[in-house]
Amino acid sequence: MESGKTFSIAFPNVSELHVTIKEIGIGVKPNKSAKKFSHDTITKTIKCSNPACHNGGLKIARILWQMDSNRSTAFEGSVKCTGLEGTPQAKRKRLSCINSYHYKISIKYKDA
Ligand SMILES: [Zn+2]
Repeated sequence: MESGKTFSIAFPNVSELHVTIKEIGIGVKPNKSAKKFSHDTITKTIKCSNPACHNGGLKIARILWQMDSNRSTAFEGSVKCTGLEGTPQAKRKRLSCINSYHYKISIKYKDA
């Protein structure tokens, strides 16, 4: 699901997708806190803005799979970043990334 084409292969029944994501936390530019995606621009994971975060971000594909299998057309929620700050080699205890995401998704289905 790296481009619009792979999206339509993964979700053949979806005709339209609108995703708005608001990120709160470290590294988020105040004027760029809300990001919008469509089926052409959506990616599997929305990258975390925290520069110290590893393996974080919002795994949006999982939410979309869930919505698609439930045939839900609108969904809204919040989720914490699952990443950790610092590198695995660091001696100090690694901290969970504090960033969080609020997402709003709407889907239109072809055969609906
Ligand atoms: Zn993060």
